[in-house]
Amino acid sequence: MQFDFSHQFAEEELPPVAVKRIGVFGCSGSIGKQTLEVIRLYPNLFKATVLTAHSNHDLLINQALEFNPEIVVISDTTKYNVVKEALSGKGIKVMAGDPGLVEAAASDAYDLMMAAIVGFAGLKPTIKAVEKGKTIALANKETLVVAGDVVMKLAAEKGVSIIPVDSEHSAIFQCLVGEQSNPIEKIILTASGGPFVGKKPNYLVNVKREHAIQHPNWSMGAKISIDSSTLMNKGLEMIEAKWLFNLTPSQIEVVIHPQSIIHSMVQFKDNSIKAQMGLPDMKLPIQYAMTYPRRLQNEYPRFNFAKSAVLNFDPPDIKTFRNLGLAITALHKGGNLPCIMNAANELAVYGFLKNRVGFLDMTEVIERTMAEIPFIEQPSLEDYFNCDAEARNFAASLINL
Ligand code: NAD
Ligand code: MG
Repeated sequence: MQFDFSHQFAEEELPPVAVKRIGVFGCSGSIGKQTLEVIRLYPNLFKATVLTAHSNHDLLINQALEFNPEIVVISDTTKYNVVKEALSGKGIKVMAGDPGLVEAAASDAYDLMMAAIVGFAGLKPTIKAVEKGKTIALANKETLVVAGDVVMKLAAEKGVSIIPVDSEHSAIFQCLVGEQSNPIEKIILTASGGPFVGKKPNYLVNVKREHAIQHPNWSMGAKISIDSSTLMNKGLEMIEAKWLFNLTPSQIEVVIHPQSIIHSMVQFKDNSIKAQMGLPDMKLPIQYAMTYPRRLQNEYPRFNFAKSAVLNFDPPDIKTFRNLGLAITALHKGGNLPCIMNAANELAVYGFLKNRVGFLDMTEVIERTMAEIPFIEQPSLEDYFNCDAEARNFAASLINL
């Protein structure tokens, strides 16, 4: 067989991009807004038919007026009347609260869910979407960290594709296209290291929200920015990768790569390593998840090897960034431990963002909560909801929230 890649295919010769109606769950956030940017760039391919936001009603109203979706959800119920009034007469169904989110997830108004809600709050609507057989473009990593076994089993039963949006997992997914029957030795998740790469505890003890939130390579929401600065983000991503790619913990490695040009790698059993590379821009994995297996042409800036010749790699400093160590423990032990860790982390990050908890104290909150809440080896979905609530209560009591 001969391959000829010189032919420039005309649009009509290519398989069509199948998915057109996008439900943007978390449309007011960093991923949500970038998803809408992609939709704006390809108005003939995509339509935003469901938009959900937690509390930023002004942005939600503006987005709804621009994209004219079928359904809008404001999950903060106190904002319902304002949104309803602003969109009256537009033919848009407006809903509120968690029940509104789940109803929107169950609706026939969309084909692909962009799961871009942050934290545990994304779990319920995502499970509902999987039950309804929707394709999931998954940005919300906490969904798999908390209940990866339940979600992946349900997706397999329903024949649902879960396509990663997280840049590392998108990179691995892209490396695996065409490799279905080839065994993986390991995956290598790259981490920028965040704003405090190379720093030691005597420095970290004093860092504040304003500094921690400034990621060197990516502009992201507040929670993931703090998670990146503590390396918890990479721990969450190890657990996310375990479920997405059906790996054992020992097949998942982390390497610090400060330039964020290699987004992650797969090493196969023949010792060949594939990497996916590019300038850091979340619009790429967002777009790929919406068009897989197709790639769309764009005019985003290109990476220039000649101008950026140095790519560095170092092992992570788990002694200093202890959150990554805690996540590795949770990855190995499994059961409800990742769920407990995630809940405690959400509370600790919230406390840090409110200046109630110091940078290093976040680790103490997570560690103590992981030790406190009883371990369950094979939790049900209900167990996960209960453990999340218990862990939140305990962590909140440590922080005096
Ligand atoms: P963000 O904070 O910017 O946005 C979060 C969105 O979730 C907002 O639309 C908000 O209204 C909504 N939301 C928050 N709390 C909610 C609740 N209780 N109920 C319903 N909706 C709620 O966050 P983000 O940076 O866009 O990240 C979203 C998810 O994507 C996270 O899980 C994050 O880990 C993941 N992710 C983000 C990036 C990135 O570049 N931002 C990259 C990889 C993965
Ligand atoms: Mg990532």
